Amino acid sequence: KVLYSTTKQNTLYNSYELHEQLGQGKFSTVYRGINKQTLAEFAIKVIDKRSVSIYEKELLRSEISILRLLRHPNVIYLKEIINTKETLYISMELVKGGELYDLILTEKIFSEIHANKIITQLIKTVAYLHKCGIIHRDIKPENILLTDKSKDAQIKLTDFGLSTLCAPNELLTDPCGTLAYVAPEVITLQGYNHKIDTWSIGVILYLLLSGKLPFPINKNTELDVNKYYVLNFKEPIWKRVSTSAKNFISRLLEVDVQKRISASEALEHIWIKNPTAVINENS
Ligand code: ADP
Ligand code: MG
Repeated sequence: KVLYSTTKQNTLYNSYELHEQLGQGKFSTVYRGINKQTLAEFAIKVIDKRSVSIYEKELLRSEISILRLLRHPNVIYLKEIINTKETLYISMELVKGGELYDLILTEKIFSEIHANKIITQLIKTVAYLHKCGIIHRDIKPENILLTDKSKDAQIKLTDFGLSTLCAPNELLTDPCGTLAYVAPEVITLQGYNHKIDTWSIGVILYLLLSGKLPFPINKNTELDVNKYYVLNFKEPIWKRVSTSAKNFISRLLEVDVQKRISASEALEHIWIKNPTAVINENS
């Protein structure tokens, strides 16, 4: 079923056929596309430029240049950009296993081994980004895709729409991210750096292991940072989880940025470095 027919003025359709919708973002829709010549499949992000503000255009430019820069097995691979008068098409590697978000909806609670497989890949990917001087700034289950539906699936980090370059000692202040996953220093406007990404990974790990967000946020939440971001593992669900996992979460969800573990330090944490030594296989 082809949704669009070829028209002369529209250059995308010279090279691709667009098929079903794969997902929907803030100002984009993503479709499965087939290259007419090679018959290879891609994901094509379609952005209607007329509905995009000047600021959002800037974000798009930065998303594209950052994607061009990155080469990592767990980062979505950019194939080509097709820019027409009204529409921008970003053709990228097609990922077929859906969003981690949907897997969370079906699994609800992950075994520690399964969570470890996902988070280990995420830590490695984010350590790579930070080494390149890039902060993703919107790490959340919707932006983590899976290559298939199995427990051994590879992750592919996507949506670099909010990502930015950040110099080693630079502090950024522009608010960004998604409330449930965003680090406290973004909300308090005190300046932030790459460690906001490791905080978001902590939120995701907590969610995978317990089925709940560590700091549920609603409109009336009073954001007194010292009172609000207090972690506890009191619920019975945490009994089956290893001490190392809980320690690792506490190191990621550390309010004090100086004390919070960085992605490269996280690679050395026992729960990442030697999980079979600390995870109970039967939990
Ligand atoms: P936005 O920046 O507008 O949020 P995303 O890049 O996050 O857009 O894409 C929106 C959704 O489209 C994703 O959450 C995902 O479900 C789907 N999607 C994006 N890229 C791909 C891809 N390469 N392969 C498969 N699905 C994708
Ligand atoms: Mg997105």
